[in-house]
Amino acid sequence: RPLFCASVLDHVTLHVAQLAEIKQQTTSSELSAFCCLFVRCCKTKRPLVMQAPIILLKEGTDTSQGKPQIISNINACEVVVDAVSSTLGPRGLDKLIVDGHGKTTISNDGATIMKLLDIVHPAAKTLVDISLSQDAEVGDGTTSVVLLAGEILKCCKTFVEDNVHPQILVRGLRKVALLSIARIKEIAVHVKREDVKEMDDLLKKCAATALSSKVIARQKDFFSQMVVDAVRHLDELLPLNMIGIKKVKGGSLEESRLIDGVGFKKTFSYAGFEMQRKKYTQPKIALLNIELELKAEKENAELRIDNVEEYQKVVDAEWAILYDKLEKIVDSGAKVVLSKLPIGDVATQYFADRDVFCAGRVPDDDLRRTIQACGGAIQTSVSSLSDTVLGTCQLFQEEQIGGDRFNIFTGCPEAKTCTIILRGGAEQFIEETERSLHDAIMIVRRTIKNDAIVAGGGAIEMELSKYLRDYSKTVAGKEQLIIAAVAEAMEVIPRQLCDNAGFDSMNILNRLRQKHAEGGKWFGVDIMNEDVADNFDACVWEPAMVKINAITGATEAAALILSVDETIKNPKSGANDPPPALPGRGRGRPM
Ligand code: ADP
Ligand code: MG
Repeated sequence: RPLFCASVLDHVTLHVAQLAEIKQQTTSSELSAFCCLFVRCCKTKRPLVMQAPIILLKEGTDTSQGKPQIISNINACEVVVDAVSSTLGPRGLDKLIVDGHGKTTISNDGATIMKLLDIVHPAAKTLVDISLSQDAEVGDGTTSVVLLAGEILKCCKTFVEDNVHPQILVRGLRKVALLSIARIKEIAVHVKREDVKEMDDLLKKCAATALSSKVIARQKDFFSQMVVDAVRHLDELLPLNMIGIKKVKGGSLEESRLIDGVGFKKTFSYAGFEMQRKKYTQPKIALLNIELELKAEKENAELRIDNVEEYQKVVDAEWAILYDKLEKIVDSGAKVVLSKLPIGDVATQYFADRDVFCAGRVPDDDLRRTIQACGGAIQTSVSSLSDTVLGTCQLFQEEQIGGDRFNIFTGCPEAKTCTIILRGGAEQFIEETERSLHDAIMIVRRTIKNDAIVAGGGAIEMELSKYLRDYSKTVAGKEQLIIAAVAEAMEVIPRQLCDNAGFDSMNILNRLRQKHAEGGKWFGVDIMNEDVADNFDACVWEPAMVKINAITGATEAAALILSVDETIKNPKSGANDPPPALPGRGRGRPM
């Protein structure tokens, strides 16, 4: 192009006739076209100027719009889906993500991966949002929702390319969501909530299905029992933060245990601590928010003294204040003293001499869970330490777990809380175990509140696919094509489950379609035997909530992305802000 412009400029001074001649001779098509234009302009005496574009937005604003914009958004979403699709299912692989600070995370959890991917594409971010909202709402199905949304968008792409108006697509998707949810509710199976044993069985199976795609899949029976027991400890609101999860490196996974009370790591302690008794039965427990340290009162006030006796009095007063507090605590009969604030060396020794256990700097949430378990209330002064504000439990003891020492309170009268102590090798492994347990705990909580279940392993998706395909034949117009296309998109879950396990997905899907056509509504992928199986009998159960939420989330996200046909990016926003202040000279900075 520069060459072309240069040669045109050379010729501008030439006679029009000559230019026409060049046009004949040149082999460059662009030059020839330009000459042609130039000659025509000269003949009609019209100036050779292009019409200036109408400027609406600030210069530098990037707008892309119309059909290409929708397609490019869909393409971006497909890239995101590709990134997570291989993690789906019991045979899914994990992802190792390294962030900017070099922190590595190994995870199989869709929401965790999506969060860490740090996606900047504005449309693809929608997928992150639905994954996170699925995580917050039901805890599981975070990969499935992204996959579904991606596949629905993919099938809509062909319609967009064929000039179907996005609004028609959006309407079709809304319809699909309504139909699917109605169908799930229709076929979901309910259990008798009153029958505690049956309910526990159901909960365990749902937890096991959630865990079977995680690192701890082989220990899923062990952990699903633990998760159900843990959730059963909570009160009817099932607050998640009342299940404490503590991670202790070392040991094997099976050494993980559930404590029906509170346990937390031994806090920082001073000399004298080792003289304290580490085991009490039915102790009274004082929960404080008081600093039990010798405070230099001269820090708080200015004192003018002119002789040694006066000074001695000040020192004595400081000691008296501390001893007064300690005496009141011991007099209250408390045998275990926990404080959010530090407990100093004098206090530690004082308690040790009087057969009292103490721990300072107890983390806030641990202290709160201790109240939930043992009763009592946090005190900010020692003036009213009566029995009503002191907690109690059957047994308090310090235990060695792995390399750490734990303060453990068991047999708590009001235990509406529990603690899971996780053991395991590498740190990343324990962290992924914790995330997996979180999924299972959320699933159990959801199922307690809403006891409808469906079969997993692609069974419910295949059933919805069949239902939608059948339904689509009853409607006329473009909607028929859209519903049929989404019906096919639903098959992405079983297909991906097969692909991730290395099965021949085409073969399995054909057999699944056949089974569902014959009325076998719970047939899904049998991951163990490369086959199809009735997953309801195989106890691959999932709460209906997970699927309802996933379908709602996926169709909403797809509708949102389809209805955006313009992205306006304004790189200049924030340009008027003052530049960040230069680091000033202050404490610790070199002059
Ligand atoms: P998500 O983040 O969506 O929960 P997972 O990796 O946990 O993704 O995979 C969930 C999928 O795996 C669900 O569709 C579930 O039905 C399926 N699944 C779980 N356990 C089994 C199993 N034992 N056999 C077949 N499919 C299973
Ligand atoms: Mg899962």
